[in-house]
Order: sequence, then C-alpha cells, then structure tokens
Amino acid sequence: MNVCMKCGKPLTRIDIGAYKKFINRGSTRFLCKQCLADHLGVSVELIDRKIEEFRQQGCTLFL
Ligand SMILES: [Zn+2]
Repeated sequence: MNVCMKCGKPLTRIDIGAYKKFINRGSTRFLCKQCLADHLGVSVELIDRKIEEFRQQGCTLFL
C-alpha cells in the first residue's frame, strides 16, 4: 500500500491523483493531501476545490 512519504499516512486514490496533478504525473512516491497542501503553501480546502474542478473537467486521475 502507498503511504505518504512525509508523514506515513495511508494514501487514497485522491491523494495520489492530486500529487500527480500538482507535482509530477510520473512520480512513484506521494504526499497525502495535508502534506501536499503544506508543501505547496496552500490550504487543504484549496486542494479540495481544485480536485473538484479537475473532476468536473473529466480528469481521469480523480474518477
Ligand atoms: Zn502526509
């Protein structure tokens, strides 16, 4: 199972999709949504909102 490379929390498909979308699509190690938000210097709410936008655009990472 994939875990966050920073805090060790188990990752959801959404966490992985968000990391790929925001950081690097080819990555094989990921951050959870919280650590991703910290890394980017934004709030988790903003990440959630962007994910929802991507999903509505039909992004396959979030289906
Ligand atoms: Zn984490």
